[in-house]
Amino acid sequence: MYPPVMPADIARYFDNAATTQVDPRVVAEMMPFFAADFGNPHSLHAFGKRAEEAVELARSRVAQLLGAEDPSQIVFVAGATEANNWVLRAFPGAAVSPFEHSSIYETARQLGLPWLRNEGLALYADRRHPLVSVMAVNNEIGTIWDVRSWRAFADFLHSDLTQAAGKLPVTVEGLDYASISAHKFYGPKGIGALYAREHAPPPFMTGGDQEHGRRAGTLNVPGIVGMGAAAAIALDDLEPNLDHAATARATIEAVLRGCSDLKINGGSLVSPYILSLSFLGVEGETLVIELDRLGFAISSGAACSSRSTEPSHVLKALNMEHAWLRGTVRISIGKYNDCKSCEKLGVTLLESVEKLRRML
Ligand code: PMP
Repeated sequence: MYPPVMPADIARYFDNAATTQVDPRVVAEMMPFFAADFGNPHSLHAFGKRAEEAVELARSRVAQLLGAEDPSQIVFVAGATEANNWVLRAFPGAAVSPFEHSSIYETARQLGLPWLRNEGLALYADRRHPLVSVMAVNNEIGTIWDVRSWRAFADFLHSDLTQAAGKLPVTVEGLDYASISAHKFYGPKGIGALYAREHAPPPFMTGGDQEHGRRAGTLNVPGIVGMGAAAAIALDDLEPNLDHAATARATIEAVLRGCSDLKINGGSLVSPYILSLSFLGVEGETLVIELDRLGFAISSGAACSSRSTEPSHVLKALNMEHAWLRGTVRISIGKYNDCKSCEKLGVTLLESVEKLRRML
């Protein structure tokens, strides 16, 4: 049970954009905060003080990961979904990219917010908006956008850094708000942060003065400690992890060069961690199930929408023809994938695609 055991097949898990396994070093830092150091950081006694110190260490580690000037700019929340909702709902008239994660896309749709225009992957605005929200790295196709270029069109600028933080060199410099989730960089699920340069939006959760009145509710101390530990490790290992992802991606792509009717999505500037592939003449979901049968975990789209048969809004925004769109899968690389598994994944994909095409 403890120390944690890595699943035997972790090297064949290629769905790291959906979530990552908590790093065993992170689990080790979290454990005392379920047991001996269980205190509420708001209590005045020694139990509370120990928890408070751990929370503040985590806050400064997260601030460091994001290049924030001051740890007080970090507010702990339940994850990027909450952070995204919090910001977006505070700015009527906010303009949103059509490529955003569903926590922004669906919220914008429900609120009737204006969209940035797109031609392919390029985004355009015709006027200034109270807030512009553009993600740094897309979770489905890996495209990287230059978020800061939107400054001239935005009174306030927000970026969803969920697929960038802890993976690529990121900084919140020039941004007013940013959202992240710990479980995308080997931290626990259900904990994330909102970076707010000056003021956080009006509280979304009310009732207590936790987080200096910015977010009410008893703090998730083990989660916060885990997020801090994961942030510190991710920052330390950023370069080697990035090199590893680039090599892993190149290895998979090299094997797939032998495949006909294959498109690699995302454009020329993509995160090495996300490889989106469209195969003509196969069904993405069928390919995911076939790969699962053969011991590989990949995804047919965003984690949150991968159980729905509705084509993703991201691929639709690209006007991808239906025949290509339906044959799209996502491979997302993590630090536990080794070279051998990458090669094997490429070969297994090739063989599976050929087999499924023959069955048509
Ligand atoms: N934004 C992006 C880009 C994501 O990839 C995700 C997770 N799929 C989220 C936001 C939401 O994160 P969470 O589910 O942890 O709130």
